[in-house]
Amino acid sequence: MKIRVGHLYPDYLNIYADRGNIAVLSERARLRGHELAVQAIGIHDAVPVGEIDLFYIGGGQDREQALVAHDLAGKASALREAVESDAAFLAVCGGYQLLGRYYRDVAGHEQPGIGLLPLHTIADKRRMIGDVLLDCAWAGQTLAGFENHAGRTILDEGAEPLGRVVSGFGNDGESGHEGARYRRAYGTYLHGPLLPRNPWFADHLLSEALAHAGGPTELRPLRDELEHDAHTISAARARARGGKF
Ligand code: GLN
Repeated sequence: MKIRVGHLYPDYLNIYADRGNIAVLSERARLRGHELAVQAIGIHDAVPVGEIDLFYIGGGQDREQALVAHDLAGKASALREAVESDAAFLAVCGGYQLLGRYYRDVAGHEQPGIGLLPLHTIADKRRMIGDVLLDCAWAGQTLAGFENHAGRTILDEGAEPLGRVVSGFGNDGESGHEGARYRRAYGTYLHGPLLPRNPWFADHLLSEALAHAGGPTELRPLRDELEHDAHTISAARARARGGKF
């Protein structure tokens, strides 16, 4: 089965090699006999609603976010329509912030968001940097990763967090929430990239994308020995030193 991925602004938003998440999805799809067809969606490109099973947007600094924010705002209704029609979406860090209502950056400039996730973000001077461990009760799983952000994200009414912070700062260092999810859209501060050390989440996204593509959503289990080791080491690091200024 072909899984169609729309990678938003790969030339601008790719901090900490967030593009590695796509490599993981591609390989895990291939090992199950599927093919990931990745299409870049850049500035001035139209969003081919209905023809994308999984959208992806990575992280970036305030400067790169400012370069794409207005173009992304012009894609808001197409992207919202896609998510309402059950396309999957993964947004990391700077991209996550832009999926909310707005992002007020460190310089105090307000960048528009697309309002796909009910949240907003305001930057503060002190950055929140370190390893993170999350409990995702909705999936009965944990996520391990690394965060580095100045933005404090506040979930508005009706927003579901991606997980509860076990160690680390999370959305704002206070609420105990990290990330957000809505239908098949997920936003998170976890970089690293995120998917190599959290294979369950990669497969979760793949099966949701397969459901959108109209294919069978079952994925044959993989051995994942290295992946589980990476998760264990990353989780232990978060437990030892996550979320301290
Ligand atoms: N510019 C944002 C912040 O610092 C996002 C940073 C990132 O994507 N790492 O909050």
